[in-house]
Amino acid sequence: MTAKIIDGKAIAEAVRGEVRGEVQRFVAEHGRPPGLDVVLVGEDAASVVYTRNKEKASNEVGMRGRLHRLPANTPEDAVLALVRELNADDAVDGILVQLPLPKGIREPRILDAVDPAKDVDGFHPVNAGLLASGRPGLVPCTPTGCMRLLAEAGASLEGARAVVVGRSNIVGKPMAQLLLAQHATVTLAHSRTRDLPAVCREADVLVVAVGRARMVKGDWLKPGAIVLDVGMNRGDDGKLCGDVDTASAMDVASWITPVPGGVGPMTIACLLANTVKAAYAREAARRA
Ligand code: NDP
Repeated sequence: MTAKIIDGKAIAEAVRGEVRGEVQRFVAEHGRPPGLDVVLVGEDAASVVYTRNKEKASNEVGMRGRLHRLPANTPEDAVLALVRELNADDAVDGILVQLPLPKGIREPRILDAVDPAKDVDGFHPVNAGLLASGRPGLVPCTPTGCMRLLAEAGASLEGARAVVVGRSNIVGKPMAQLLLAQHATVTLAHSRTRDLPAVCREADVLVVAVGRARMVKGDWLKPGAIVLDVGMNRGDDGKLCGDVDTASAMDVASWITPVPGGVGPMTIACLLANTVKAAYAREAARRA
C-alpha cells in the first residue's frame, strides 16, 4: 500500500478562503474588521518569524493584524499591563502571546491574564475546561487543524481506535479531547508509555506530537492507519522533518501528512478562523 498524502497546504488555503469570506461578512455587519493582536517578548529567531507570519496572514484575509514587540528584558508586570490593555480594547478580538516567553516571566501568570473570550490560542484554563467538558469555547489551533485534516481524508472516527502520542496542553491533550468528542476510543501516550510501538499499532488514527525526528517507524503502524505528523524537527541530515519516518510509514498507512506541508500550515489558518469566531462571539455577547 502507498499512502495518500493529506495536502495540508491546499486545505489550509481553503480554510483561509473561508475565513476571508467570513471577515467580509463581519465587516459588512459590524463596520470594523476582526482584530488580532500578537505579543512577542524577546528576539527568539523562530518566534520572530512565526509572529510576523501571523500578523501578515491576518492582514491578508482582511483582518486588522498587529504585532507588539517588547524587548527580552521587559518586566513581567509590563507584559501583564499590555495584555490587560488589549483585554480592555474593544477593537481587539484575539490576543496571542507568543511562547516561549523569556526566562523570568511566568508563562501561566501571563496566559491566565488573557480574557478567555479573546484567547484565540485556546490555552486559557477556562477554554481548556470548556473543551474537557464538551462545551463550546476557543480550541487550540493545531488540534483544530488536525481535525479538519481528518475530515478531509474522510476518516470515520466513531468507534475508531485513536492514539495520540504526546500529552502537551497545546497539542496532545486537546487533540485527545476532540477525538473523544467525535466518539473515537482514545489512548493518550507519552514518554512513560510502555511498548509504544504496540500501542501505536492499535491505532486506526495516529496523531504524533512529540518533537523527536522520525521516531515512529512504518512497522509501528496498523495497515491502513491514518497518520497525522505534528512534529517539526531538524533531522541529522539538517532537513525539516516530522516525528514519523515518512519513507517507511508510506508503505503501511492509508493517509499521511507530509512535513513540511501537512499540519503546520493548518495552525495559522485555524488561528485566523478562531479570531473570526471570537469576534462574532464578542459582538453577540455585546448585543445580548
Ligand atoms: P512538548 O515538548 O510540550 O510535548 C512533547 C510530548 O511528547 C510530551 O507529552 C512527552 O511526554 C512526549 N514524548 C517525549 N518523548 C517521547 C517518547 N520518546 N515517546 C513518547 N512520548 C514522548 O511538545 P509540543 O506538544 O509542544 O510539540 C510536539 C511537536 O509538535 C514538536 O516537534 C513541535 O515543534 C511540534 N508542533 C508543531 C506545530 C505545528 O503547527 N505543526 C504546533 C505545535 C507543536 P511527557 O509528557 O511524558 O514528557
